[in-house]
Amino acid sequence: MTFKIFDGGRVQQAVPQGVILRLAVPVPLRRLFDYLPPEGLDPQLLAPGQRLWVPFAGRRLVAVLVEIVQESPLAELKPAQELIDRTVLFDEGSRSFLSWIAGYYQAPLGEVYAAAMPAALRKGKSAHHWAEQWLQLTTDGKGLPDSALARAPRQQALLQLLLREGRQSRTCLKTRKHGSATVRALQERGLVEWVAGPTVPPPMPEVEPSPAPQLNSEQQLALDAVNCSSFSATLLEGTTGSGKTEVYLRLVEGVLAAGRQALLLVPEIGLTPQTLRRIAARFPGHSIAALHSGLAEGERARSWLAAAAGQADIVIGTRSAIMTPLPRLGAVLVDEEHDASFKQQDGVRYSARDLALVLARKADVPVLLGSATPALETLHNALSGRYQHLRMRRRAGGARAPQIHLVPTLGEPLEEGFAPQVLRHIGDTLARGEQVLVFINRRGFAPALICDECAWIADCPHCSSKLTLHRRQRQLRCHHCDYRRPLMDSCPQCHSRSISALGGGTERSEELLARRFAGYPVIRVDRDTTASKQALDQLLAPARNGEPCLLLGTQMLAKGHHLPRVTLVVIQDADGGLFSADFRAPERTGQLLEQVAGRAGRGSLPGRVLVQSRFPEHPLLQTLLEKGYSTFARQLLRERAAAQLPPMSAMALVRAECEEPSWAEGFLRDARLFMQSLAPPSADLRYLGPVPALLERKSGRFRFYIQITAGQRSQLQPLLARLCQWAEGSSNRRLRWAVDMDAQELA
Ligand code: ADP
Ligand code: ZN
Ligand code: ZN
Repeated sequence: MTFKIFDGGRVQQAVPQGVILRLAVPVPLRRLFDYLPPEGLDPQLLAPGQRLWVPFAGRRLVAVLVEIVQESPLAELKPAQELIDRTVLFDEGSRSFLSWIAGYYQAPLGEVYAAAMPAALRKGKSAHHWAEQWLQLTTDGKGLPDSALARAPRQQALLQLLLREGRQSRTCLKTRKHGSATVRALQERGLVEWVAGPTVPPPMPEVEPSPAPQLNSEQQLALDAVNCSSFSATLLEGTTGSGKTEVYLRLVEGVLAAGRQALLLVPEIGLTPQTLRRIAARFPGHSIAALHSGLAEGERARSWLAAAAGQADIVIGTRSAIMTPLPRLGAVLVDEEHDASFKQQDGVRYSARDLALVLARKADVPVLLGSATPALETLHNALSGRYQHLRMRRRAGGARAPQIHLVPTLGEPLEEGFAPQVLRHIGDTLARGEQVLVFINRRGFAPALICDECAWIADCPHCSSKLTLHRRQRQLRCHHCDYRRPLMDSCPQCHSRSISALGGGTERSEELLARRFAGYPVIRVDRDTTASKQALDQLLAPARNGEPCLLLGTQMLAKGHHLPRVTLVVIQDADGGLFSADFRAPERTGQLLEQVAGRAGRGSLPGRVLVQSRFPEHPLLQTLLEKGYSTFARQLLRERAAAQLPPMSAMALVRAECEEPSWAEGFLRDARLFMQSLAPPSADLRYLGPVPALLERKSGRFRFYIQITAGQRSQLQPLLARLCQWAEGSSNRRLRWAVDMDAQELA
């Protein structure tokens, strides 16, 4: 991608000569900005990848130096205010990767840099603040023989460590239990000295080292199949509990042995203290940097700087960790690669999973995507041979796959949403001293309208699609053709007045369980009860102790937790995603159900899964439960191919939101006309909208989008780039717009 330096093509005479700084400034404009070096600063100190304070439209902003050039097309340049620190935060590899991101996602480079930095650095705090003190030998110290100081064993041990392994960070000396008195004694002898050096990650909690288990044959085959000497892309499709994490850890071991850094990306709810302990226990003596939103600002900056300085051997983080500079990168691993949290939903709307491939290719290292329920995008790439496809079908450690039963609920005497036989099974399981997990699907699927008596569902007379309920307008709408009709009061088929939105209220079912099984702890896990990851960990402590209890929760419970005494999993309502207007809803439902079911019977006791549904005959449910996710996903892929939907096509949304709905809609109508004038619609390039987003009003703003689908990504890119230029020039300040490349949510 090339950046424009100025607007409108009015080339001015290039006047200033000499050292000119081309900077990425965090503003919503897709171009770079030229400045002179700060007054009085020796230009020799400047290098790309550093941060500077710059004056911008009356404000002071943190910009990143992208390039030093000789001349600028602009007549008058302002000097930058100040070099923040001499540290080059972004090395060349990282700068090239971030430019790629800006180009692909149509994002301003300054905003990409801002998104890549932890908050403290984004706000301009100097990296110096987290510089580490390192202990090194003085010239005298280096001259000593190994046998020196035999009468002071502590000093000798430290001296030998420094002779053997070179300088040591203060943090590392602490974890290795070399006391400050010993250091002082050596200092007094003039043998060692402290110097300021690169940041190291905060120390990990102390855990007992735990050795790796012997891999089973499936794991060994998978490990052996990954080519680690250069770029290779692999999907590891392994049943829940098949030991994928063990394979990741072995790969990490290889990366560390080669002296390189391993990047492990995990979903937002997957980075629990439990996960960190498992990794710390496996790699004692290696420095591990965690990067996630639960960290204090300073800790996060410290971890990030350590990773960027090459001082963290293992970097484990959520989505944004993909943008951390990693100078010694050896492999990228993505756990639960299908997880929706890898896609950023505002600002720079990148997919960390997709970027893992780009990063690995640029660094010429392997990338491994692991999941029990691969995303259709990933599966498509594997089936078409772009990725190597590895399977693990057996559960590791001897646990058996759970038995799954469908429980039809239509016309049954339900008690707050539970069939009598399901309540009986819950009671029996608790009485046997085992644990039960009840999963309540509260995901924000677009609500469809259903009759509780006869299961009639409102569908579009013009499309093979369900109508979506818009409560505010009391309307049903088709999101494919924009057909609308008023909401009805009774079922057109059986005239019952009992019609409701699929995926309705859940509080009452929670109350029922607490009352009915009052003798047992009921642990409720959702966003309200678990504001932090630590809270979730604490909440689950009784469950981990193995007492009989009832776990009740939303998708937060679906993964990441290994609870061996859960033998019964109840899925209260499997129907939510079956009839949504969002074409990805069936895929997400399938993934969620498979993941939840995978919580049952992970220990030595066999597991059982009960799935309540009003539509036990639904072909998608039938395929999923009888043949498993893999067959289910292939069936969905065939449907996507027939409808020319992603991953068989490329899709981008142009979004707009505004307090005044007609402005957002009008802006998008103009945007569509503008794009159509450049690239008229065809069988291979389709435009839809503006249509209201599934979540039509959010924080007082009305949201709309246009959807553009193309046979090739390369058709979309130039079109969207032109659109961004057009929109930057023409949009209203009260209106927000965005391009969402490879959009995941229509919400
Ligand atoms: P996944 O990541 O596929 O869900 P894990 O790697 O967490 O699976 O493994 C599930 C359970 O099986 C864990 O308790 C793990 O310690 C155990 N396990 C994995 N591999 C082995 C092995 N080779 N031998 C014994 N136990 C294993
Ligand atoms: Zn009816
Ligand atoms: Zn329609």
